[in-house]
Amino acid sequence: MTDRYAHFTRTSAGRRLSGALGLPRPVRLRRRGDGGPLIEGDVVLGGTSGPLESHVAQALEGLGVPVRGVTDVVERPGALVLDASGITSASALTALHTFFSPRVRGLRGCGRVVVLGLDPATCDDVGARIAQRALEGFTRSLGKEVGRGSTAQLVHVAPGGEPHLASTLEFLLSGGSAYVSGQVLRVGTPVTADEADVDPRKPLADKVAVVTGASRGIGASIAATLAERGATVVGLDVPALAGDLAALTRQTGGDQLVLDVTAVDAPQRLARHLHERHGGVDVLVHNAGITRDRRLANMKAEMWTRTVDVNLVAPQRITEHLITQGVVRSGGRVVGVSSISGISGNAGQSNYATSKAGVIGLVDALAPRAAEHGVTVNAVAPGFIETQMTAKVPLAIREAGRRMTSVSQGGLPVDVAETIAWFAHPGSGGVNGTVVRVCGQSLLGA
Ligand code: NAP
Repeated sequence: MTDRYAHFTRTSAGRRLSGALGLPRPVRLRRRGDGGPLIEGDVVLGGTSGPLESHVAQALEGLGVPVRGVTDVVERPGALVLDASGITSASALTALHTFFSPRVRGLRGCGRVVVLGLDPATCDDVGARIAQRALEGFTRSLGKEVGRGSTAQLVHVAPGGEPHLASTLEFLLSGGSAYVSGQVLRVGTPVTADEADVDPRKPLADKVAVVTGASRGIGASIAATLAERGATVVGLDVPALAGDLAALTRQTGGDQLVLDVTAVDAPQRLARHLHERHGGVDVLVHNAGITRDRRLANMKAEMWTRTVDVNLVAPQRITEHLITQGVVRSGGRVVGVSSISGISGNAGQSNYATSKAGVIGLVDALAPRAAEHGVTVNAVAPGFIETQMTAKVPLAIREAGRRMTSVSQGGLPVDVAETIAWFAHPGSGGVNGTVVRVCGQSLLGA
């Protein structure tokens, strides 16, 4: 769906008018599909002599991005990266000001701010734990200040995660994270040993991925993105969309299964299909979802039940069956699709918000258990994404959803897909039990 306002502000008349009235001017976000290097401009790396020092430098070097130090003069950096793991007291937080204050104005449009710290829960020292927790407020605030399509994130590193930062830094610096800002990501000990010889352009080569609700919207983009990264994608959708699903399968060159995820025997049928045709599965994305909006007083029981069944009961049943039956291979990834509605709540969506908050519960509950099988469980929580689902939203609410974000616009299905591709990456085995909002730092539920 077209964002007419954003297009208008990019015309000369629109630029003048929006400037004169002080209205938001959404910039065209830098996305991976635009081509170009991983990051435009130099990466300035600052440090605090903490335990992550050599690991961050090594990970950036491995990505082949141009890295400069704090003594270099860099006019227009593309990214500002601070290893804040050496901050062990509240007074030492001044390092944030020292590094960022003189540089943040020079950050290029669609630039990146990344702060790396220690997971506070793993800090024994009281001062360190307080200071590391404080990084969150700083990063979220900077995300709201940087503007011009730039983003800011905090990466919490837990013991064992130090040498496994590359896939996360790659995602955060790239255009893949265009619509992710103000997030706290966590990297810990990977659930399996690292895979050797991962092709950076096709990191999912030899992997099999299932995407539910794949025939349109966000699901179609997830399927296309995972296929583009080398995966064989098994698209799944309801019988009514069999034609669209067949078109998607032709596009991805993968496989398909027409199935309602709420069918009583859906877990068994999916398991059989994956076992017989592919010998198992590596990436399981629970994208299928529905809304049946109505204020609770007017909501029919069927609207409640159907929404919770599709969005929550089915992902739980399918995940549990496929993991316990060994259909999800070691090194596998399960990804849920939650929503910021499940974080903030939304009038008229008590059923949907319940189901989407439940998806976060699913991540919390299943991540530690799945790790015993060498599998991670994470979720995305999209905000306002331009799809058929949001095209049906009344205009005023649609405009609020788009503009009340740090980037003043809605996201695209590919923004959700890219975040899922990061979870699915073989190098992301240390990312487990995480929910990442793909919402342009929406003010809703902040
Ligand atoms: P969409 O365009 O409605 O696509 C969802 C797909 O799932 C459709 O193909 C749908 O088919 C299918 N599906 C529904 N019930 C199913 C079932 N029982 N079994 C198998 N497939 C089923 O939605 P979207 O906007 O791309 O959203 C995708 C996911 O992102 C959903 O989980 C949604 O809740 C979540 N999300 C979206 C947004 C957003 O801004 N768009 C924001 C937050 C979260 P039908 O035609 O039968 O419905």
